[in-house]
Amino acid sequence: MNTKKRIVIALGGNALGNTLSEQMAAVKITAQSIVDLIEEGHQVVISHGNGPQVGMINNAMTDYSLNNPGQPMMPLSVCVAMSQAYIGYDLQNALREELKNRNKDIPVVTMITQVRVEETDPAFDHPTKPIGQFLTQEQAEEMEKKYGYPTKEDAGRGYRRVVASPKPVEIVEIGAIRALVDAGQVVIAGGGGGIPVALQGNHLKGKSAVIDKDFASCVLAQELDADFLIILTAVEKVAINFGKPEEKWLSNINVEEAKKYMEEGHFAPGSMLPKVQAAVDFASSKEGRRALITLLEKAKDGIAGKTGTIITK
Ligand code: ADP
Ligand code: MG
Repeated sequence: MNTKKRIVIALGGNALGNTLSEQMAAVKITAQSIVDLIEEGHQVVISHGNGPQVGMINNAMTDYSLNNPGQPMMPLSVCVAMSQAYIGYDLQNALREELKNRNKDIPVVTMITQVRVEETDPAFDHPTKPIGQFLTQEQAEEMEKKYGYPTKEDAGRGYRRVVASPKPVEIVEIGAIRALVDAGQVVIAGGGGGIPVALQGNHLKGKSAVIDKDFASCVLAQELDADFLIILTAVEKVAINFGKPEEKWLSNINVEEAKKYMEEGHFAPGSMLPKVQAAVDFASSKEGRRALITLLEKAKDGIAGKTGTIITK
């Protein structure tokens, strides 16, 4: 078996932290795990989530607009773009430093990535993903009236803006990403699921949405013809009967088993389900492709088949 692989790594929230200072500290540890893989000769492409970061940016921008009459609201697509730059900046800096510490002179780059979605995606009619700050009922009504943003009451804690989470169709900058990866550079791309855009003639129009990073990473891995999609999260393995007395941690499963467990409802919709779905989509897309779900610090052992949940065709 060829041991040098092309790997797309999707970083979850715990790899980045929730605040400015947490992110600074977290990316140092994240960079070590990633550079471990590069040292083993693997070609690595990195994507990441942006939940807390896009919420923070959206909060700041919402405050600004609500406090400065006449200021338009910052489009969510722009907030996603800002989150890509903010996370990419910290991550590429940490990776560069870790590579240098190990005497590796490899360029690291963050690609501002747009991801095309369908304007007819039913997700636009059912915004489900809460983002940004908690609002009073009056603020929520003002926001809906002034800007047309839907809000929802969130578990008794106040109102929040809810956004759609459409499926990724196409990565606009894939050609540039591929060229950089083929040239041996370390690329961070598709951050926060990518900036959602819809095609209008030759124009790409930003859409008010946040794409699931697990699904966008799956498209990225397929387009780059990766061998491995690795989804790094807060658990070492995927479980069935998660949190119940009959809980069972899964090591190796095939696509059929994973589908059966999905249908039986073993994976929570907002967290583990998109990961397993993305893993299944990737593993079934071509012979030899594999997906791994595990902890950041277990990535190396996971590739070696020592831990994590591996999903194969
Ligand atoms: P990320 O930021 O990496 O996307 P999430 O919190 O969205 O992380 O998803 C990972 C979480 O999913 C785990 O920490 C765990 O609490 C939860 N989870 C839900 N169902 C399962 C399951 N069946 N097996 C393992 N973890 C599960
Ligand atoms: Mg998640």
